[in-house]
Order: sequence, then C-alpha cells, then structure tokens
Amino acid sequence: MTKRKAIPAKIRLKVLQRDNFTCQSCGKSPALYPELLGIDAFPKLEIDHFDPHSKGGSDEIDNLQTLCIFCNRGKGNDETLNRTIQDKISTLLDTINPEIRKVINSDGKAKIVANDTDYQELVRLNSLCNAFSIQVIPNTIFGYQAMYNAGIYTINDNHAGKVNFVLTPI
Ligand SMILES: [Zn+2]
Repeated sequence: MTKRKAIPAKIRLKVLQRDNFTCQSCGKSPALYPELLGIDAFPKLEIDHFDPHSKGGSDEIDNLQTLCIFCNRGKGNDETLNRTIQDKISTLLDTINPEIRKVINSDGKAKIVANDTDYQELVRLNSLCNAFSIQVIPNTIFGYQAMYNAGIYTINDNHAGKVNFVLTPI
C-alpha cells in the first residue's frame, strides 16, 4: 500500500480562502470569533474531498471543500464547544443587564436594549450555536412608537444609538 500524499499546503490554503475559512456543512468558522481559536473545543478546519481520494478523486480545488473536524469526521458532537459559547453568551447578557437571564427563565424571552457592540457580539456568538432567535425592533420613531404602544418601553427610556431586540431561546 502506498502512503497517501498530503494535499499540498498551497492548495489547502486556496480552498480555505475560497470557502472563507468556514465549514461548508455547518457554517462554523474561527474567523467569526477569533478569540475562540485558542480553545481546544473549537472545531479545527479540515480539507475534504467530494470524490474520495480512495476512489480516484483528485486534489484539484474543485474536488475539495472546507469542513470542520466534527462534520468531516461525522462526530456531530460539539457539546463542549456549544457549552463554551453559551457560557460566553451568558456572561455577555449579564454584562448588558443582569436581569436578562432571569426574565428569559420566567417569561420565555426578553426584550433587550443594548449598545451596538454588545449586540454584534451576541449575533456572532449565537451564529455559532443558534441558541436564540433574535428579532430586531426597528429603531425608528415608528418602531419606538409601536413598542411604546405595546407597553414595552416607558416614556423615560432613551434608546438613541441602541439596538432593540427580542431574544427568544430556540
Ligand atoms: Zn462543520
């Protein structure tokens, strides 16, 4: 049996770049959250052959795709990763407002006002584990009025420059 030759580094890099360093099956990507790169649980990216090497599939980039280690090896088990990300989400929510998680636990969802940076980080983290549905309330006079009419905002709330959204666990 001949030893299988590794895919040349140049070709691997081309495939990763073409796929934007994103698993083509589940969409996970270290690029979405670089801080997670140092965490062991974060799925490493691998190069997969559409037509398997063993059946004559080539190392041409058209026959190659980026997969994370879970999808490529069919483990389908990234509980540790999801726990890590969900811990980060919990910490972030507590930073925005310590009441949020209590409200979610009692009401099944929470209406949140956050600054844009925290909101973007929440969206990024959530895209890795899809724990929540996030419904943005338009931050317009009409969006504000609708929320006010629905009794969600009070007259004293100042939402200028903030993102308003409803967070519902999936
Ligand atoms: Zn994957």
